[in-house]
Amino acid sequence: AATRLCPHPHPTVRVRPLTCTETRRGDQQVVHSLGDGAVHVSAARHDATFGFSAVFDAGASQEAVFEGSGMRQLVELAIDGFSCTVFAFGQTGSGKTYTLMGPLAQSETQPASPALLGLMQRSFTCLLDQSRSRGSDLALSASYLEIYNEQIRDLLSPGPPCALPLRWSKTRGFYVENQLNVEFESLEAIVSLLLQGVVQSSPPPAGSQRRRTSAHALNRHSSRSHALLTIHIRSRAHHPPTWFLQASACPSKQGTLCFVDLAGSERVKETGSSGELSVEANSINRSLLALGHCISLLAKPRGKRTHIPYRDSKLTRLLARSLGGSGITLMVACISPSSRCLSETLSTLHYASRARRVTTRP
Ligand code: ADP
Ligand code: MG
Repeated sequence: AATRLCPHPHPTVRVRPLTCTETRRGDQQVVHSLGDGAVHVSAARHDATFGFSAVFDAGASQEAVFEGSGMRQLVELAIDGFSCTVFAFGQTGSGKTYTLMGPLAQSETQPASPALLGLMQRSFTCLLDQSRSRGSDLALSASYLEIYNEQIRDLLSPGPPCALPLRWSKTRGFYVENQLNVEFESLEAIVSLLLQGVVQSSPPPAGSQRRRTSAHALNRHSSRSHALLTIHIRSRAHHPPTWFLQASACPSKQGTLCFVDLAGSERVKETGSSGELSVEANSINRSLLALGHCISLLAKPRGKRTHIPYRDSKLTRLLARSLGGSGITLMVACISPSSRCLSETLSTLHYASRARRVTTRP
């Protein structure tokens, strides 16, 4: 476990299968996993191999991703008091939400089969098992936020959406004021919080086409917003024995486990392409570029590090503690194997490799 303690992103790649539509229209498969963390992209004018901590190909099960990505260790480190974060990154439709939640978000009516549950539900199960085996001295609570157009919205608060202020204090660092933090003790409770967030993040469905449009609208909306689910894990301090006078010598630990479903990366363009530069695209660009920038500055050796510009976006401010300091980050770059997605796939792999350099220069 010691080798996993370095506070840098551990990038892994997941290649989803070709969808029915892609197969039907005859898209070529241009991405192949070579084993040992190597992924190969080959198309007419491109031929490149990238190396990562792990690569999961189209045949990889949800369980294989949970076990092979280091997610289980991340959960254990969070219980030990670390700030742990997992990001899902990639273009819209590349499998970010599927990896984090499974197909659950797509159909609210039918519960997903247990084999298809994503990293989130598997982590919750792992946390609750640990909590039970420790005689429930872990107090678990969750908060769920969305960043849309550089505005922070609480996905757990009922009623009309309102933007919450992001503040900074010496003791707490960056924090969201008036954010709801809901305690939970069972899998059902946390999964229903998750669903509540998913429902809240989709705009109100219109008229009679309710179900169909809501699934569609959810995908449209969620590809433009970042969703952050944070689990706060507090080890309840044991009552010290009576001879133990200094209670402070028996501290309680507090760790966090944050799941970040990032906005679709296809809107990241280094050179601002002229034309429709909407507010939306601008804020997605800004936060994903700021995240990439912080990650590449963190890649420099400690002595040579300049100021890390966490303040450049709300996303990086909220993630400041996990990215720097005692944070441990796992990044899952999601890609499509289709020839039609080639340029976005290459850009995702480049972004993730930049994060990889962080791991090799501790
Ligand atoms: P994103 O959140 O990146 O926009 P989704 O997770 O919604 O993408 O995935 C897009 C589609 O591909 C969904 O229909 C999803 O069920 C399917 N999909 C994604 N990854 C996989 C996978 N590993 N296995 C099977 N289907 C997948
Ligand atoms: Mg999604």
